Order: sequence, then structure tokens, then C-alpha cells
Amino acid sequence: MKFDLVVLGSGPGGYAAAFRAADLGLKVAMIERHKRIGGVCLNVGCIPSKALLHVAGKIRMADEDAHGVTYAKPKIDLEAIRHHRQSTVDTLTGNLALMAKGRKVEIFHGEGQFESTHSISVTQDNDRLKIEFENAIIAVGSRAIRLPFVPYDDPRILDATSALQLERIPKHMLVLGGGIIGLEMATVYQALGAKITVAELGEQIMTGADKDLVRVFEQTNKDRMTFLTKTQVTDIQASSDTLNVTLKDQNGQRNLNVDAVLVAVGRSPNGRKAGIPDIGVELDDRGFVTTDTQCRTSIPNIFAIGDVTHGPMLAHKASHQGHIAAEVISGHKVDFQPLAIPSIAYTFPEVAWVGLTEIDAKKQGIPVKTATFPWSASGRAIASGITQGKTKLIYDEASERVLGAGVVGAHAGELLGELTLAIEFGATLEDIALTIHAHPSLHESVGLAAELGAGTIT
Ligand code: FAD
Repeated sequence: MKFDLVVLGSGPGGYAAAFRAADLGLKVAMIERHKRIGGVCLNVGCIPSKALLHVAGKIRMADEDAHGVTYAKPKIDLEAIRHHRQSTVDTLTGNLALMAKGRKVEIFHGEGQFESTHSISVTQDNDRLKIEFENAIIAVGSRAIRLPFVPYDDPRILDATSALQLERIPKHMLVLGGGIIGLEMATVYQALGAKITVAELGEQIMTGADKDLVRVFEQTNKDRMTFLTKTQVTDIQASSDTLNVTLKDQNGQRNLNVDAVLVAVGRSPNGRKAGIPDIGVELDDRGFVTTDTQCRTSIPNIFAIGDVTHGPMLAHKASHQGHIAAEVISGHKVDFQPLAIPSIAYTFPEVAWVGLTEIDAKKQGIPVKTATFPWSASGRAIASGITQGKTKLIYDEASERVLGAGVVGAHAGELLGELTLAIEFGATLEDIALTIHAHPSLHESVGLAAELGAGTIT
């Protein structure tokens, strides 16, 4: 059996690559070990977490000041919530399978293992199949990092995948790791009634986002969650009635009893698996596959995309790389060189950023200025009771070209589209300020921040 292209892994990187290559006329096979295609994102990542966050938002509405409207205490039906999560996943993965079929992308279910630079085996149960290929794309993704002292066989220890199952709602949950995934799940469990403590080793939660944006998130949630930064979890002892967690910070060591621990300390790439190093594909010391700007590995007919490569571990980065790799294989002259890859924490409020952050500008010695519009001055935000937010532009001091942006507030992630385009198109403050933004809207805050920076309003 021989294909023009074999894609190993069916996540947002893999399926985007397979579909684009098929559209460009290649004979394509995609290998996936799970029964359902879609990878982490569709099955146990982006999509189910957003389905649960949607429900969390509805619950949260009930105890917010609704300006003359009061709601009864929400009744929570966990089974119905799980059903919403699963039907969302089923709809999307079902559609994906139909799209693969429509394009004649052949899907092989089983464990893929490279045998040479032109062949791969697929093993399912006792059957082993050999597939030959002209080109291959490695899209094997990443997996949750595990810590040596965590008693993982205890059912009260959760990772992102088991947390999404909502088996039970603990009274008090420690979230180990204050990154986006941990904080999104903390938001869900808090809305469902759990007391939340977040322990983060770094100086701030949501590392990567600028401090001033994160502060708005912390302030808004200070009565709902406890944030412990510069805090290391060094041990977890499980007994029949509690999980006893040892925490270490600058004041010394202390213990905390909780009913559940969600471990969300990051993800590591799957580059050392599936025979990838054995066929000579170069990896870095952390197991990421190294690639050039065309997503090509050290082996000329083998490409790599998504979480297994350098850069942010995000679905939209994976799928963009997938398109590039498929197009390069089809003979197009294209490169993956984005100026801006947006990041969104779908928390309440949302925290979103794109391009250069102030932290990065400082680290890289780039002279920047910022222009910020507070939502407490936005007509739409005041009318909607969502004034806890701000929109910030980060621009080059000399040219006033926008290099980065950050937004915190309700629907902040939706405002990032305009800002991402502005950065990719090399827009200056003046370009944005001269663009008419609808009034009253939240995106008006982008135009007003630019006007403040450009000095056309004060
Ligand atoms: P994956 O989606 O990991 O897919 C890899 C696939 O390869 C898997 O299906 C795996 O089974 C298969 N595979 C691996 N090895 C083999 C083998 N040897 N044989 C056969 N099959 C194999 N990103 C966002 O952009 N937005 C979000 O909101 C977001 N939310 C997230 C929430 C959670 C809880 C988690 C865990 C992640 C989230 N992410 C989010 C990250 C996102 O899921 C990943 O960046 C994305 O899935 C990476 O895509 P990928 O194609 O590289 O790999």
C-alpha cells in the first residue's frame, strides 16, 4: 500500500494537513490510534473545555448583579452538563470524519511506528499493516507532564482529561499549575461549587500574559479563588479522607488538606515516540522535532507540525502549520512565519494577548510604548455591567507600528481578531485610530486605545 502522503496523528495539525493535501490532489492516509479523529483539541481539549466553560458562565450569571433581575439558585444537573460536553464533541468529530470521507482521505486506526524514511507500520490488536509513502507529516502532539511525587492512581488526582469528565465536584480542589488549562478548569469547578486554590511556581499565574492584564483577572476572582504564586508543591500524601499537600514558599513549608488535586503543569512533546528518532529525525533536548520555516524536519521528505514542534502549543498554530506542510509537499513556495499567534484564556473575565507582550519587549530590549483604554470608560461595558477590563496596544516607539496587544474582559478573545490582523498587516496606531469602530461596542476600545496613543484624543 503506497500513498503520496501519510499523516501520523489526526489532531488539528494532522487533519488540517491531510485535508489540504487531498484538496491539492494528493493520495493521503491519516493514522490515528484512537477510535475517533480530532486529537486532543476536539476530544479532550479545546472543545469539551469550552462546552463546560459555557455552562460555567450560565451558572455564574446567577450570582452576578443583573441590574434589577434576580435569579434563583442554579440547579446543577451534572449528567446534563456531561451530555452537552459530549454532544458538542460528537458533533464536531462526526463532521470531521465526514469531511475526511468526502476528500477520500484514508484513515487507519492503530498505533503508527515509523520503520524507515519511506514506510510506517500501523498496529491494531494483533494486526500489523505496512504503509509506504513519498512524504510524511509527524503530527503526534503532546502529553501532560507528570510529576514524580503525585499519587496518580488515586482517583482524587485529576489531569485535564479526567477533570473534563466531571465525575464528581470536590469541596476543595488544589489546582497545581496556574497556566491557561489549569485556570480554565478551575473556573469550571468553581462555578460548580468547588473551593479553589491555585498553586503556581512562577511569579504570576498565566505566565506569558502581561501582569496588568492578569491582575484584572485576579481582582475579579479574588473572592472565588485563592492564588498562591512563587509556591511549590513538593509532596501529596493520600489518605482515605484527604489529600495532604505540602506547599513551599518564601515563608517556609506548610500543609493543606484538599479533596482533589488537578495537575496542570504543562505538556511535553511526543517527539521521542513512534520511532521518530530511530529514522534519524532530529529532536532538541526536550523532545521537540526541529523544523525549518517550511515545517520540514532534518529528513527532507518528512515534515512535522503542531505541539510536537517549537512554538506555542495551540490548535490554530498546529492547523496553520498543517496547511503550510501540505502546500510545500504539493510544490507550493510557502513558509510558516507568523508575526502574531493569538493566545486566549477563556476564563471569566477572558485574558487574551497576541504578538509582542511587554514582558517580551523588555526581555528582548525592544523600545515600546503602550496605549491603554480602560473599560470603565466604555459605553458598552458600562451598559452591560462588565467594566472590569482593559484594551492595551503595544507599539514601536519610533514608527508607532503595533507589535502586540492584550485585552482582558468579557469576550476579550473576540477582540483579538482585529488586533491580530493589524499586527500581520503592519498597522500603525494611526491606521487603527482612523478606522471607524461601531459605537457602542467593546471593539471600540481598540480604536479608542489607538486614538489615545496617537494623541488624537486625550
Ligand atoms: P494533538 O491534538 O495532540 O493530536 C495528536 C494526535 O496524534 C492524537 O490524536 C494522538 O492520539 C495521535 N497519535 C500520537 N501518536 C500516535 C501514534 N504513534 N500512532 C497513532 N496516533 C498517534 N489550544 C487552543 O488553541 N485553544 C484552546 O482553547 C485549547 N484548549 C485546551 C484545553 C485543554 C484541556 C488541553 C489539554 C489543550 C488545549 N489546547 C488548546 C491545546 C490544543 O489541544 C493542542 O495545541 C492541539 O490539540 C495540538 O494539535 P496537534 O495536531 O499538534 O496534536
